[in-house]
Amino acid sequence: MSKMPTISEMPHTSLMPVQQALEIISQSFSRLDPEDIPLTQALGRTTARDHFAAITQPPFNASAMDGYALRAEDVANCPVELQVIGEAPAGKSYDGDVTPGTTVRIFTGGPVPKGADTVIMQENAERLNEGSVRILIGAESGRNIRPAGNDFAKEQKLVEDGTILTSRHIGMMAAANIATVTVTRQPRIALLSTGDELVTIGDVVGPDQIISSNNLLLSTLITENGGTAIDLGIARDNAPSLEEKITLLKATDSVDLFITIGGASVGDHDLVQKILGQYGLKVHFWKIAIRPGKPMIFGEFNQRPMIGLPGNPASAYVCAVNFMLPALHIMLGRNVIGAPRSIAILDHALKDNGSRQDYMRAYYTENSDGEKVVAATPRQDSAKLSTLAHANCLLVRTPNAPSAAKGDRVEILLLQP
Ligand code: AMP
Ligand code: MG
Repeated sequence: MSKMPTISEMPHTSLMPVQQALEIISQSFSRLDPEDIPLTQALGRTTARDHFAAITQPPFNASAMDGYALRAEDVANCPVELQVIGEAPAGKSYDGDVTPGTTVRIFTGGPVPKGADTVIMQENAERLNEGSVRILIGAESGRNIRPAGNDFAKEQKLVEDGTILTSRHIGMMAAANIATVTVTRQPRIALLSTGDELVTIGDVVGPDQIISSNNLLLSTLITENGGTAIDLGIARDNAPSLEEKITLLKATDSVDLFITIGGASVGDHDLVQKILGQYGLKVHFWKIAIRPGKPMIFGEFNQRPMIGLPGNPASAYVCAVNFMLPALHIMLGRNVIGAPRSIAILDHALKDNGSRQDYMRAYYTENSDGEKVVAATPRQDSAKLSTLAHANCLLVRTPNAPSAAKGDRVEILLLQP
């Protein structure tokens, strides 16, 4: 990694390049402590160590079919009649040996009795009476038997450290009798909106007012990514209201990241830096060469990292995807950090880009070759939630990128489906 200038070396007026902002933010976070929880509660959590099977699966040679357990050599020349000496349903083994000329009626999941080395499915047999069966079609040794350990063996590594647990992992771990899992503590992210114009969802929306939608936009993004959001509500654009919220933040337990929304620019009502500054905010950098989202702040407040997001929903979201998600994933110790990236074919021409890294709301589909084809949303207004909601990716344009033609390849950031 090339040496980056320290904060004090950065000219205060220049915009921080996206990559450098990401490096600085990433260095401010580390993995949180592990905790043990029941497997039943583990969906979506991130493992904090490797996990190993506590038992072998299947624990015994099991039948994969309803049929007859027997010796393959007895059915080399079919049809042949065999003596039925007992039963082995799932959960109950036959207490005896299958000897030449005999067979045990067996069912799917039943333990294959000693002496038998194959299972003939019942469709290939004709039951003559209680004590005998005619095998119509034979099978080689091992057929229709799931050997012990066929799925996994005791002490085999089943799940890597840093894995997000899905229902599929949980099903496997249940079969392996892993009742307790070690996961990373969920990062706690406090959210504070600012603005005189904001009201809470469900409230009466007066003239000149809008709903504070960003609280939910971001708290659900945090939940989707394995964190816990703590909504501190709305601070008005005045010192006493912000101070009240600072008191609330300080009274909140173990906040790993503090996020403010809005008030990050230089308007008369943008008080975040000014008021928080009076209470110890250290600004590491302010303003990133990104569009949308230029006025983002990164600093430290109340001994914890702080991100000051701009208020426009698309700006807040683009900054959150680029900077908050990596922080969250690092705290969780995930194997994959940040939104996944991909390459897509442009469905239309694009003008040359300005000096900021641009994240256009966009939608991709797959063509018949399985390649992604992407189109940017026609209007890139950062206040528009309707285009953001229906986007499934962000189309990335590097600073000063030349114009691009339909068919060119571009990088996209995939958004959660
Ligand atoms: P600001 O960054 O405070 O100048 O806000 C920029 C724009 O985003 C303004 O139009 C605000 O009304 C809007 N905005 C700020 N906070 C929120 C929020 N929590 N939810 C929705 N819109 C917001
Ligand atoms: Mg505002």
